[in-house]
Amino acid sequence: MTSCPECESDLDIDVEEVEEGDVVACGECGTEYEIVGVEPLELSKVEDEIDEDDDDYKDEDEEEE
Ligand SMILES: [Zn+2]
Repeated sequence: MTSCPECESDLDIDVEEVEEGDVVACGECGTEYEIVGVEPLELSKVEDEIDEDDDDYKDEDEEEE
């Protein structure tokens, strides 16, 4: 069982059902983690501040119509 690094509650992640690149969210604190490795399970906290004022930097890799 993996614990949430932020709030230390158990993250209910089944390594058989996740793969690299998946994002899981802690049910307790809502922190999101990207799966960066499955053997062993390795998580990277997703620092995704949703801010509308990000005109300074536009990621043109993702084109959305
Ligand atoms: Zn948490």
